[in-house]
Amino acid sequence: MSARVVPYHCPYCGEEDLRPYAPENDNEVEIKGGWHCADCTRVFAVKYHGMAAAPSYAAPETGPQPE
Ligand SMILES: [Zn+2]
Repeated sequence: MSARVVPYHCPYCGEEDLRPYAPENDNEVEIKGGWHCADCTRVFAVKYHGMAAAPSYAAPETGPQPE
């Protein structure tokens, strides 16, 4: 597993022009491992929360059929 996976689309505007974000001075947003969207100028990070069991979907109930 790689340490860092690259997001392919901005979660806010959907554009693909994402660059690793590095603050240029102390006044800017401080975010570790952030991404900067060149289109909407948002800076965001992708956070890993853990593993979860795969959902199991039961077939929907089939009620009484219309006559
Ligand atoms: Zn964007």
